[in-house]
Amino acid sequence: MSSSANKKTSKILVVDDQEDNRDLVEAVLEDNDYTIIMAKDGDEGIAVAQKEDPDLILLDVQMPGIDGFEVCERLKADPATEHIPIIFVTALGSSEANVVKGLKAGAYDFISKPFNGGELLARVSVMLKIRQREEVAKEESNTDVLTSIYNRRFMERRLSEELTRCVGDNQRLVCLFIDIDHFKSINDTFGHPFGDYVIKEVARLLCETVRGCDTVARWGGEEFLALLPGTETKDGIAVAERIRLAIEKQTFSFEGKKAKVTVSTGLYGSRPKTTGETSEEIIRKADEALYKAKHEGRNLVVASEAKH
Ligand code: GH3
Ligand code: MG
Ligand code: MG
Repeated sequence: MSSSANKKTSKILVVDDQEDNRDLVEAVLEDNDYTIIMAKDGDEGIAVAQKEDPDLILLDVQMPGIDGFEVCERLKADPATEHIPIIFVTALGSSEANVVKGLKAGAYDFISKPFNGGELLARVSVMLKIRQREEVAKEESNTDVLTSIYNRRFMERRLSEELTRCVGDNQRLVCLFIDIDHFKSINDTFGHPFGDYVIKEVARLLCETVRGCDTVARWGGEEFLALLPGTETKDGIAVAERIRLAIEKQTFSFEGKKAKVTVSTGLYGSRPKTTGETSEEIIRKADEALYKAKHEGRNLVVASEAKH
């Protein structure tokens, strides 16, 4: 998983209609290893924010066209930009009414023009620190502690997003429910730490085997879910078979012990726009197919497909 929180330089978007003001802000910030990008009015500011995903926006209030308050409201209303912290830099004066209006619009802070360079720098630095902590916390909340791949919380959200996207684009979706076979006996025979190692290695092999646009998560215990958007059922079966073979041929060796394991996979493929299914129904169908794979002998892929 890539960590945007670890990136080297913070990107700051300065939105101001006056070139002098933009230059002034840039002069204060430029020696500090920030990447500064500029926009000269509200519309451009919104467009640049959507495209560049900056870490912070310094936003002028009085601008021709849409003013800073409205830019702020629009950015906060858009899921693509609502997370970006905004500091108003304004000549309006930090009267109570303005401050309240700005904070209500979703800004985090307020700086009056003419500003003191040291204060601007300090406020920017504090905001970027908070932002970085938020990013780390968000990443941690989406990550499974043992395997470092996505966790169930993340997968539930991703499935619902992919479902919406597949309905919108009328695309097919394949869901794989993958479960390690007889895992209890691995723990019983080789010990829990060896079991943990196997779970980690299976997670790694799964991520290696799927495409970049697919999502793999640890659903719980020794169970994983994979989502393959825009995929025909037969192609999903090929992926599940590749996974099955990759794990079957792997020898898991850890602290001098060696073992082989296999996985069973339940696959469900559908065109969600036609079926009108919910996330829960998709997972249930994949789980039912997994149940069959277990009963038909394990180390198997069992696929099911929506009838229409
Ligand atoms: P089946 O082939 O039917 O899936 O059998 P199974 O033994 O794999 O399934 P079962 O659900 O009976 O057992 C799963 C085991 O996985 C039991 C549990 O102790 C173990 N397990 C769950 N989470 C972890 C974990 O994080 N680490 C380790 N080492 N074991 C775990
Ligand atoms: Mg199992
Ligand atoms: Mg299980």
